[in-house]
Amino acid sequence: MALTESTTTSTRKKSAEIYQKSAKLIPGGVNSPVRSFKEIGISPMIVKRGKGDTIWDVDGNAYVDFCMSWGPLILGHVPDKIAIAGCERIMQGSTFGIATEEEMKLAEAITNAMPSMQKIRFVSSGTEATMSALRLARGYTGKEYIVKFSGNYHGHHDSLLVQAGSGVTLLPQSSSGGVPESVVKNTICLRYNDTEAVLELFRKSPHKDKIAAVILEPIAANMGVIPAKDAFLQTLREETKRTNTVLIFDEVISGFRVGWQGAQGMYGITPDLTCLGKIIGGGFPAAAFGGKAEIMDCLAPLGPVYQAGTLSGNPVAMVSGLLTLQEISKKGFYEDLLEKTNLIVQGVKAALRQKRSKNSVVQVGSLFTIYFGVDNPSSKEDLSSLNTELFRKLFIFLFENGVYIPPSNYEAWFVSSAHTKENLLKTRDLILTFINQNVF
Ligand SMILES: *Cc1c(COP(=O)(O)O)cnc(C)c1O
Repeated sequence: MALTESTTTSTRKKSAEIYQKSAKLIPGGVNSPVRSFKEIGISPMIVKRGKGDTIWDVDGNAYVDFCMSWGPLILGHVPDKIAIAGCERIMQGSTFGIATEEEMKLAEAITNAMPSMQKIRFVSSGTEATMSALRLARGYTGKEYIVKFSGNYHGHHDSLLVQAGSGVTLLPQSSSGGVPESVVKNTICLRYNDTEAVLELFRKSPHKDKIAAVILEPIAANMGVIPAKDAFLQTLREETKRTNTVLIFDEVISGFRVGWQGAQGMYGITPDLTCLGKIIGGGFPAAAFGGKAEIMDCLAPLGPVYQAGTLSGNPVAMVSGLLTLQEISKKGFYEDLLEKTNLIVQGVKAALRQKRSKNSVVQVGSLFTIYFGVDNPSSKEDLSSLNTELFRKLFIFLFENGVYIPPSNYEAWFVSSAHTKENLLKTRDLILTFINQNVF
């Protein structure tokens, strides 16, 4: 797609120059695909710095940021306290490959907040967390099959880059090149929120006794935002318990985002294992998986399931994560965050209600997504009528007016405690202007 004149040549010259050089050296010019703005079709932003709710690109343009590094920055960019503590920690050594007190402290804070996590192990990315949790579940149960749900994202390791097959066969298909069929055949992919399909699988299918784990995002936030239905989660909990299957909640986004106890606290459902990431590193690379002690103790060095990492439990990330948790544990934090988010969401919802076309705003706490062309989706399959062209227009309109939202309609928008009322209302008013001119 051609680059739009107004968003590149005049005001974003330096971004475009750097991107052109990057593209010669780095595939697609980026180190994670969505950063390339491929869905938008304009040259991507090259960012320079951030503070609070604002980021600046290399050309000096400012944007109110609703991507927030895809979730970690719940306190906004560069909270002073964390920046200072992080620098102090770096001055004493940034990595050792030896156990530190900071790991114990963050482990204590997280397991206190989420009682289902009796034990926890730190890794460096959400991908590692889910990959390790699956290996652990297989090691613990001695079973091979994994169940996931379409539209749920758990990182980029082989066994979870799988989507539901189409047509009559329902054989799982890899959603990426390079993933062998021998791996994919052990993953079963069902429709999200489809309780009947879960019952069918655990009661009637030939695989019913071979399932090591069910993994899901209890609040799906990688297809916009789609929360699980209570009955769906309850059925999953019951069926997995009955069949000695490990229930894994991937709370890499929802953990510490939707509330102090994550989605599991919100729904009152206790998983066997939980994966965390994003917020717990306070803007540095840290993630974790944890759960029942009986399962976790299967990990090396106590048990036979191997798992390791050079930078796992990195002390700079641990300090930043701990300070982040301290901030968000303060009374009223989530209420304030919700109030901020509502400043945008309520106005947009009301404006869309006036329109004849099907649209929705789905919100859980400080996460939300605007869907044009879709009415209250409950699964990825429900998004087939999504008006991605209208989303693309909205992105460009906001971008040209100093607001940066995730450059894909399949992502959640993130509000932080650093977002100012002024910037939230400015964003809301821009969206309302867009809706009045473009949605019918
Ligand atoms: C971001 C994310 C991951 C992957 O985490 P990385 O740190 O990017 O590897 C896994 N699961 C969910 C739900 C995520 O949102």
